[in-house]
Amino acid sequence: MKSKKTFDGISFKWSEIQLSKQASSINSKCVDLVNKENLYVIEIPTRAYWSVMFRGCCSFTSANQDDKSLIGRRGHLERANAWTHFIPCILFMICSFVRPFVLGASTVSDHMSNVSIVLTAATFAVSTVYHVYSAVPSAAPATRTLDHASIAISLCCATIADLSMATKDFQNVSFQAWLDPMVGALVLIVYFGVRRLFVPENETKQESYTGEGCTLGLYRVFHSDLEHASLRAAGSAALTLNWILIIPSAFSMLDADPAVIWVIGASIGTLLLICGIILDNTGVVDDILMRDQRIGPCFCNSKALGCVFNTHALWHVIAVAGAVSSIFAREYGIASWK
Ligand SMILES: [Zn+2]
Repeated sequence: MKSKKTFDGISFKWSEIQLSKQASSINSKCVDLVNKENLYVIEIPTRAYWSVMFRGCCSFTSANQDDKSLIGRRGHLERANAWTHFIPCILFMICSFVRPFVLGASTVSDHMSNVSIVLTAATFAVSTVYHVYSAVPSAAPATRTLDHASIAISLCCATIADLSMATKDFQNVSFQAWLDPMVGALVLIVYFGVRRLFVPENETKQESYTGEGCTLGLYRVFHSDLEHASLRAAGSAALTLNWILIIPSAFSMLDADPAVIWVIGASIGTLLLICGIILDNTGVVDDILMRDQRIGPCFCNSKALGCVFNTHALWHVIAVAGAVSSIFAREYGIASWK
């Protein structure tokens, strides 16, 4: 039987039931509170995709519903989170195939922009994997690390693509300009990768809704950056805002119109990202549902689909809108001088 070693140093077997100590402790908390069942933790890693993304779609009947659960017996809290990444992943991948034929591929900026779109699609793919495996205790820490690494790489490439556009294929650009975001992303990836190897996963593990949420299907587990959260936030902010340093070059190299439109588009993209993060961290719809005792069918959950559209899923949609705005602004800039 093959066994796989994860980044966090915990081995598990993919093709048989194997509960880690962590899964057991998670189960024990919820088993006491729920109908002898934990709706979040997936005990068989090979079934993670099926359980999170599809489990309720085909064999669902009203007879096996839990009346109180917001997601039904065959739903999963991560389902909306996974699909709101997976659908944009497909759309961005299609966009990357179509773009060279529609907008051309004759300049370095064309290629850089296309690479950035591919990496955006790849980031959404990795984030889908992260949300699926966040329900698998032994895989969640590693997939979270990979998710953040892919976001850093994507932001880095987007900045370099913007630099290429604003300087008409890197004209008179010193190497520090493109090396800077690469070093920033690399530092974050290496630091948090090493941290993941050395900090035990039971120290970073956090749980939500261990009370009523177990019954409602809102119980979840995630891994926190703890005292390193501010470093993560500062590093991500630096990568996200790096395009601001390119503004002077854009106004000196481009015509006024495309320069202004690029700044507006990139600003909207950045503002959407910031607003989405604030919403994700402050406006917890699940909390409001429980506080108001509006437990049961509502605008943000579906037992038939087996999902709850919480603020994190909404943040995913906002992030997609932000990426579209930034890409549109860059493409407008490239088209203006090609
Ligand atoms: Zn997410």
